[in-house]
Amino acid sequence: MSTEKKMYRVLAQSNGITVTLSMNKPDTWDQAESDAKKYIPPETKPYVIQEICDEDDWYAGTLNFCPRCGSKANYDNNGEFECNDCESSGEAYIHELGGEQP
Ligand SMILES: [Zn+2]
Repeated sequence: MSTEKKMYRVLAQSNGITVTLSMNKPDTWDQAESDAKKYIPPETKPYVIQEICDEDDWYAGTLNFCPRCGSKANYDNNGEFECNDCESSGEAYIHELGGEQP
């Protein structure tokens, strides 16, 4: 696999329990898989590893997933997205948490 470092999320599910493992720093795929094997409880295996984005996008707060199916999608500066996986497109309203509350 690639040695390029990305942000990853690991999801595991069993008997109605979903475990999410989020990486707090960019890592290689191999490292994400190794963390998954280390931290995901054995009773919730199997699991999936999702690539979220690269580090620059992460800190810029750029969205890159489809709001409909969760696959990787491209957004333009107006919040319009296109997803090749579920063939949907449209506009998503992007909300930001944190900072000053009105
Ligand atoms: Zn989609």
